[in-house]
Order: sequence, then C-alpha cells, then structure tokens
Amino acid sequence: MNQKMDFSTGSVENLVANYYGLDVKATLLNGYDELNFLIIDKAGKKNILKLSNSQQDFYFLDAQIKILQHLSKTELALQLQQYTLNTKGQALSELSIDDKTYYLRILSYLEGTFWVEVPIKTDALHINLGKFLGIMDKNLSDFKHPGMHRHYTWDISTARDASHKLNCIKDHEKRRIVDYFILQFETEILPILSSLRHSYTHNDANDYNVLVNENDIVGLIDFGDMVYTALINNLAVACTYAMLNNKKPLEAAILVVKGYHEMFPLTEKELSILYYLIAARLCISVTQSAFNSSLESNNEHHFITEKPAWDLLYYLIELNPIKAENEFLLACNYSSIVFENGNYQKIELERYAHVGRNLSISYENHLKIDKSALQYLYDDKGNTYLDCVNNVSHVGHCHPKVVRAMQNQIATLNTNTRYLNKNLNNYAAALTATLPSHLKICYFTNSGSEANDLAIRISRHFTKQKEVIVLEHAYHGTSTTTIEMSPYKFDRKGGLGQMPWIHKAMNPDLYRGLYQDEDAGEKYAADVKRIINQLKTDKKAPAAFICETLLGVGGQMPLPPNYLKEVYKYVRAEGGLCIADEVQVGFGRVGSHFWGFELQEVMPDIVVLGKPIGNGHPLAAVIVTEEIANSFNNGIEYFNTYGGNPVSMATGLAVLEVIKKEQLQENARAVGTYLLDGFKKLKKIHPLIGDVRGAGLFIGVELVKDSLTKEPVTHEIKFLVEQMKNRGFLIGTDGPYNNVLKIKPPIIFSMHNAEELIRKLDEVLSNL
Ligand code: PMP
Repeated sequence: MNQKMDFSTGSVENLVANYYGLDVKATLLNGYDELNFLIIDKAGKKNILKLSNSQQDFYFLDAQIKILQHLSKTELALQLQQYTLNTKGQALSELSIDDKTYYLRILSYLEGTFWVEVPIKTDALHINLGKFLGIMDKNLSDFKHPGMHRHYTWDISTARDASHKLNCIKDHEKRRIVDYFILQFETEILPILSSLRHSYTHNDANDYNVLVNENDIVGLIDFGDMVYTALINNLAVACTYAMLNNKKPLEAAILVVKGYHEMFPLTEKELSILYYLIAARLCISVTQSAFNSSLESNNEHHFITEKPAWDLLYYLIELNPIKAENEFLLACNYSSIVFENGNYQKIELERYAHVGRNLSISYENHLKIDKSALQYLYDDKGNTYLDCVNNVSHVGHCHPKVVRAMQNQIATLNTNTRYLNKNLNNYAAALTATLPSHLKICYFTNSGSEANDLAIRISRHFTKQKEVIVLEHAYHGTSTTTIEMSPYKFDRKGGLGQMPWIHKAMNPDLYRGLYQDEDAGEKYAADVKRIINQLKTDKKAPAAFICETLLGVGGQMPLPPNYLKEVYKYVRAEGGLCIADEVQVGFGRVGSHFWGFELQEVMPDIVVLGKPIGNGHPLAAVIVTEEIANSFNNGIEYFNTYGGNPVSMATGLAVLEVIKKEQLQENARAVGTYLLDGFKKLKKIHPLIGDVRGAGLFIGVELVKDSLTKEPVTHEIKFLVEQMKNRGFLIGTDGPYNNVLKIKPPIIFSMHNAEELIRKLDEVLSNL
C-alpha cells in the first residue's frame, strides 16, 4: 500500500463522531499498510480504529469482517476483536474525502501483552499458541470468502516471487542464503503444493499480533494478511515468529507444532515441509525489508523483524532439515525418519556387492550425506557438518545460480559439440578472459584426469618427445597415462612403479625438504635441470614438465619463490612444454590471484583446470596457446562426447559469474588470511603443529611429534580428524606421510566458519 494517508487525530475524532456518534480521543499507533488509532471514549473504553484507502480491496475488507463474525460464534470469541457498527448498522464505513475513498472500521481493544514483549516464554505458552491456532483453523474449515482468494506477497505459497527482489539484498552471503532457500522452496514445496490441504487462514500470527497473559493466548489481532492458502502455512508463520529472538528456536517451534496438532491433526506430508516453509517465510520477510530499504522507506514497521529474521536464517542453514522434520514428526507422534541405528552395515554391504572395494569411504565411522546447503552437509542422522575440505563445491553445495543454470539448460538442450552452440563459444571466451592472453584455445573434458591426459598427448604431439617430468609426490589423475605421471600412486602399495619415460624431480618442500633457505626455489629447480641434463645425455628431451602450482597431495604446500620461473626456463630451453595443473587450486581459491601460477609469476604453455570449474558437475579443461593448438590440429579429430556440452558450458559460465559477482576471490583472501593467522596462533600453543602454510583458502597444517626431528604424527591425526568430524567439521589429511591437515573449503567459507573451525581445532588439540 504505497499511497500515503494523512489523517490528524483531530480529523479521526470528528469522523468517529460523525459516523458512529461517539465522542473519543484518538492516538496514532503503528501499522504496516493501514493507519491504526487507539480511540478512548469518555468512559475510558478503548477501541482500535483502522483507516484504509481505496487500494484495499473492498471484498477483502468484507472478508475480514465476515471471518471475525464467523469466529465470534466459536470458543475463540473472547480472544478475537469485535466490530463496532456505525450509525447505519454497518461494520465498514465508506468515506469519500476530496474524491478519494477511504474505509473506516472500529474494533474492540483486546487486553494483554504482545508476544514480543513477554520476557520469558514458557513451554506452556508455546503449546497454547499452537493450540489457539489449531482451534482457529479447525473452526475455519467451513468458512469461505472470495475476497481471500488473492495473490499476496506474504503468502508463503508465493515465496518464489521473492527472487525478483533478491538484488535488493546487497550482502553476498545473505543474498546467497535466501536464494538457496528459494531454490529449496522450488524443489521441496512447489511440486506438492497443490496437493496440500488448503484453507482460509489468518496468515500472520506474528509476535506483534499475538496477545498473551501469563501462559495463555488472550488475543490474536490483525486479519489484514488473511489469505486462502496451504493450511500448514498458517502454522509455519506462527513457528517462524516463535523462533525469532529465541535461544532455542527449534524447541520453540516443536512446542507450537505439538499444541496445534493436539487441536487439529497435521499430516506427515505437512510436517515434512515445515522447515522449508519457515525458511521461505523468512525469505519473504528479509527480501521485503531489503526492497523497502531500496525505496528508502522510513516506516520502522517495515524493518521490525529484519535482524532477528537474518539470525534465524543463519540458524536454519546450520540446522539439518532432516533433524527438523524428524522433530516435528515426533512432536505429533509419528515415527522417526532419522537413521538411528548407528552403523551403516546394510548399505555398505550393498555397495560392496556391486562397487569396487578400492573406492574408499572417508572416516572411521562412515557418513551418509543426504542433503547439502552451501558450505554445510546434512547426514541422515540429523547432524550438520561444516565442509572444510571440498574444493569441488567451490562456490558452495547447491549454489542456486549454478543449479538453475544447469536446470534451465538441461531442460532446453544437451547435445555434443558437433553443432554450433553459443554456450561453448561464450564459455570459452569467458574462461580465457581470466587467463593471460596467450592461453586462448580450450579443449573441454569431463575430469581432471582426462584433461591432464590430453595435455600430455598434446605436448607429445608438439614436441615429438615422450619424456615427462613430474614432482616426487604428485598426483595428476586416474587414467593410464596420468597414473604413470603420479608417484603418489605408482610408488605406493599396488602401484606399477615408475615408467622409463617418467622422471621425478624433488618435491620443493620448504618444511622438511633438503633446501629451506632463501634460495630454495633455485636449488629445487636445479633438480629439474639435473633430469634434463640426464635426458640430454640419453639423447632425449622433455615433452613436458607438469606440476601443481600449489602442491595438493604433496602436502598443501605453496611453491618456493622463483621455483617455477627457473624450472620453466630450463624446460623451455630444451623445447619442452610447461603445464600448470590448476585442478585443485584454481578459480580464485588462493585469494591474491585467480590462478595459482600467478603466485609464481610465470606463464605456462598449458593450463589444466578441473574440480571447481563446474562446482561438482563433471567438467574440466585444457587451455593452450594458438601455436600448440595448431600443432595438435594434425588430422586426428579431437572429439569428446560430453566435453563442452551445452549444460557443462552453462554450468561453467554460472560458476565464473558467481565468483565475480559475489567477490569470492576476495572472500578467499580475507577468510584465508584470517584462518592462516588463527592456525599460526594455535601453532604457538600446540607443539603438535609443526608447520602452517598455504594461500587463501588452500591451507596445510602439518603435525609432528617433535619440532626438531619433525617425526610425522600419523596415528593421532586420524583421531583428530574423527574428533573434528564428531564436532561437525569435515577436514581431510594429505602429504607424503599423511600428517598434514588439509583445509580447502568452498570459497564462500565465512569469517564465522573460520572462527568456529579455529576454536574447535584448538579444543580438539587440547584434548589430544
Ligand atoms: N590433478 C590434480 C592435482 C588432482 O588433485 C586431481 C584429483 N584429485 C586430478 C588432477 C584428477 O582429477 P579428476 O579426479 O577430476 O580426474
């Protein structure tokens, strides 16, 4: 209701005298869309006067009158307002002032304390709120009014419309959370919405509309939000406000649900979506606040729940929806849906029956993850985990922009690259725009392994050589060629050993390697030179040198200054190509730069991209110079059935857009720096921490038994990781001795997440 209404208290008093024959004193009260006045007559009797302008639909005002008249015949009569009739015997007075129509109503004043003002809200009070609403909804089962069939912003069923106002939310993290919950609304609610029980609902049992006396609900006011909608929405609104500003939000909602169910039984289907409906209501609320703020509204009523609403959204995203659903079901005496039996023997046996056993499962006590939200994972037991290790879900699990880009494209077209398609061109252009200008020709594949494999194939075509130089503990993939390039695999149990055309250079390890001084970069590079000299003696030359630009399985390790500069010089001098494997670290993760190789101030001939590129969608890329691409265009077609398909390209484009729009590289820098500093502080108090290193949100914390001998901690680290998991933090281990904690979360990781991670790690280290 935008049209301003300007009525002085004096003019209101005159209107009351004219239309109702009453002599009153008026005082202006708060209101959202209407003007509300408290009016007191000579005998001290209070009433509420409501003035609406013609933007209020007449039929809707009529419905408000009819619904109260309907309910006045029920056991709730005393808890609801009654209309005072005007001198013509009507509940609604229509006024015409300066050619404008206004509607005036007088309703009885209900005594009581507003819910929001009750300092301590007992369990009984929450249950009674539920009961009150249950009784009201039950009594409305036989109520009907056409005026309540309307499209209304505050109807949870229309929550998807909130997405149109998302851009009014300027904070990236907040906007992302709202968008995530709108996506969940589309996924969990919309498909079943029409099958839910529908009814005529009050739709606004908020903390300023519910009146309380001790443990009793003594009033519910303001029927201005009424709507015909899914019945459960009415309860969802009440739960939302009962949860606001509450130290135990879920517990509060459970009590309201319990009370409601006692009076008017809820179905399992309704309870199964309540969590998402509550989130959806909050999404409407915060987008409306942001929208009003963009209009520079100065009506404080527009912002009244903004701060607690955000707090509750942050709480909800950390609350496993399966846990919430289960609690609601139990409150209504339905069976539990969470997995309570502790171990997963059955599902494990089913897996082993048909899936290779050398596909390991993380953690001693395995996890069954059923849902995810941005940086959080939810298991089937109701636990929430902060994902501190998944660099694949780069911009967050189920990031709504990425999911929608995929959904839209797969619903439109998905085919191979032998047709012209704009997505392929657009993505290749957008991706190469993030790289130095000489890297401009893309080949798309489905995995990092396949991309590294292709990079080697291309190098061999270009150089007519076969020899490949890799680092000592490298991992580059799981294909036959890339396994041969991965000492991390071929040198370990079950590995086939080193192929004669593969050459291992020293790991440029500044912590436990041979060189740790200022010139270590040059000294480690000399080891590559040594290999090249040996090849020369054997009348061979390198096809390629490949290494990660920060070492992943090598122990989460940044390279020493000048290392790649020197190495690339040596390799190029013999005609070899320099390949940067950015599969783990690319796309802004290192914070100060978009690509890891930029930390080393080098220009690779080929870059290989994977993992984060598609936020979990199987996409990877090899990007080369024009000259290299021309040499590879040698008659054999390079065709890849899925590589570069329109869905992959739409996904990749969305990931790039999200990184840019949400300034996630900057987030990785700020949060990464904070984490590194925090871990360095822990190093000072926990002798177990031998080294803390990394860049941005790619961090390694190396654990040793003794800071001098650097004997690796291998046993306790497993216990530590398990303990962290039990506290809801997923981290991994890596390094040649598997004694490095690896921290490489989605780059939306927040400062709050970082603080919690440091705090918990401190706690677990102290308990070791
Ligand atoms: N290169 C590096 C550095 C990797 O860490 C990995 C995967 N861990 C790969 C390549 C292979 O990628 P993918 O698993 O997608 O084949």
